[in-house]
Amino acid sequence: MIGSNILSFAKSILSDALESGGIAVDATVGNGYDTVFLSRSVGSCGHVFGFDIQEEAIAQTESRLEEECTAANWTLFKAGHENMLEYIPEEFHGRVGVIMFNLGFLPGSDKSVITKPETTIAAVRSSLSLLSVGGVLCIAIYAGHPGGDDEDSEVRQFCRSLDYHSYRVVQSEMINKPGHPIRVVFVFKL
Ligand code: SAH
Repeated sequence: MIGSNILSFAKSILSDALESGGIAVDATVGNGYDTVFLSRSVGSCGHVFGFDIQEEAIAQTESRLEEECTAANWTLFKAGHENMLEYIPEEFHGRVGVIMFNLGFLPGSDKSVITKPETTIAAVRSSLSLLSVGGVLCIAIYAGHPGGDDEDSEVRQFCRSLDYHSYRVVQSEMINKPGHPIRVVFVFKL
């Protein structure tokens, strides 16, 4: 059910911008679930570029992709997403349909390795230049863990400041969820 989980809700919105043969980026591959979703969505003629700074996340994502995706349409980089413009070949700049960020720490792993506001915002800036017109950036933001609240407010403040004539920014939040909020911010490039 689309509304049972905020990420499945996000994916239903992204489906609209994901076409067969398209280009997508997973900026935080983590356990690889979103990478698999993107790989399946763009199909064998498309391509997915994935980033993570942890070897464990890259290895986990690689084996999940090998098991669950038929197309070898992906390239993973063990590198910070703030450097994505250097890793993604120039021919794809301005042609990316969907970019996903899933912030915070890798569940079931070292909780001290977290995404940080400065590098996240640098990566979001780069993402905006990679997107095609009609492309969508999707950022799942977690508050509650140490450092999470600051990242939540800084990333949303950055997105709120984007020029209305060039981008539309939509925020969704499951407002009856107990505990800390999970927010998803979508940036639509006009
Ligand atoms: N909080 C999410 C999962 C987040 S996974 C959930 O609960 O489902 C976030 C991933 O971002 C981690 O695997 C971490 O290693 C990665 N990461 C942290 N900093 C990064 C950076 N600068 N560039 C790319 N990936 C990064």
